Amino acid sequence: MTSCHRGAKGLSRAERVAIFGGSHGNEMSGVTLVKLWLENGVEIRRRGVEVTPFIANPRAVETCTRYIDSDLNRAFTTENLRAPHCEDLPYEVRRAQEINQIFGPKGSQDAYDVIFDLHNTTSNMGGTVILESTQDDFNLQMVHYIQSAIAPASCSVLVNDHPVLKYATTRSVAKHALGLEVGPQPQGVVRGDILEIMRKILKHALDFIELFNGGTEFPPCTVDVYRVSERVDYPRDECGNISGLVHPDLQDRDWEPLNPGEPIFQMFDGRTMLYEGDSTVYPTFINEAAYYEKRQAFVTTRKDQLEATESNPRDSNSRELLRKVQQPEFGRPLQAQDDDVSLYIQKLASCNPKILIISGFIYVPDNWVRMTSPGLLHFLGNCSKRTDGRCNMLYLKPCLSSCSFISVCLFSLFCREL
Ligand SMILES: [Zn+2]
Repeated sequence: MTSCHRGAKGLSRAERVAIFGGSHGNEMSGVTLVKLWLENGVEIRRRGVEVTPFIANPRAVETCTRYIDSDLNRAFTTENLRAPHCEDLPYEVRRAQEINQIFGPKGSQDAYDVIFDLHNTTSNMGGTVILESTQDDFNLQMVHYIQSAIAPASCSVLVNDHPVLKYATTRSVAKHALGLEVGPQPQGVVRGDILEIMRKILKHALDFIELFNGGTEFPPCTVDVYRVSERVDYPRDECGNISGLVHPDLQDRDWEPLNPGEPIFQMFDGRTMLYEGDSTVYPTFINEAAYYEKRQAFVTTRKDQLEATESNPRDSNSRELLRKVQQPEFGRPLQAQDDDVSLYIQKLASCNPKILIISGFIYVPDNWVRMTSPGLLHFLGNCSKRTDGRCNMLYLKPCLSSCSFISVCLFSLFCREL
């Protein structure tokens, strides 16, 4: 029998999760949220998950700068992590070693399961999740979940697995690394709208982990992503000085198609520089303030679709039982005296986002609400009202109770949020 907690490709529960703010000390959404959660972590608490908020670069946060000696978010190379301890090491290299000790070691079984690294950009990228691999089914299922949950708002997915442009990020210490990049927001500034986008993406991400750990089955899915293709520097004169600015037609057009022959730079001498690539690309990180020092005006990306296999697939016995439970006409009780059925109901109750009604009891995936039949009817009436009659978005607050399994029928209602 397949374990409830092990999905395709042997994905295991994500029990240790960290949220990093201040990898760059002047990117204020992450700094603000992590400080908030260090004071009071109720918002990020989830059943069956240890969630650790963490300020990654405290000295840079103190001075509200990107970094002290060098970019922490490029510091997690094997060479740095193995460098012998001495006072001469740049602060961020020493800090990378500390972080690797606490949340790693990078690449080992002891490493944290998931690290979310919270960043802001001055570019008009909206809410973006950055992945470092095309092969990580857990992460792909998570971003698919986030995109569905956050709709009609959007959450772009940038994949940087470029052989040259990929860099050794702070989050790369974890088994599953996710960057959240939200903008536009100036450095050192907190904008309420940007902070809320970040908060919402993270909420859905943590919800996913709770469901995943609870054994919820996620079917195979396809995720639209943008893959990093090329770094484009500002135009420069023979002395290396910048000789033009991002063209007004390109500014703020992150993720929009850029076709060959369209303007990319406005030269200081009045000329316009056109994009000379041979096909349409999707630029992003356009005019990011922190990337002037990295000689990057924007990166081009190409659209791609990635596929994730199912997670937590049910074994065939469970599938068959589920089929039986769903078979009776809607609402007709199924006698559930069989031990297997009882066990299956318990399993469903603890890990499946369906609702079971058991002789007037309502079962929800991670908690129960005990109700009499009139209460049940009342509840269903409320559901319909709350969801414009579609009756497919329910959420009940915890109210633990025990129950004997006498008869059962199943509503194929998905339990999401109100
Ligand atoms: Zn950053």
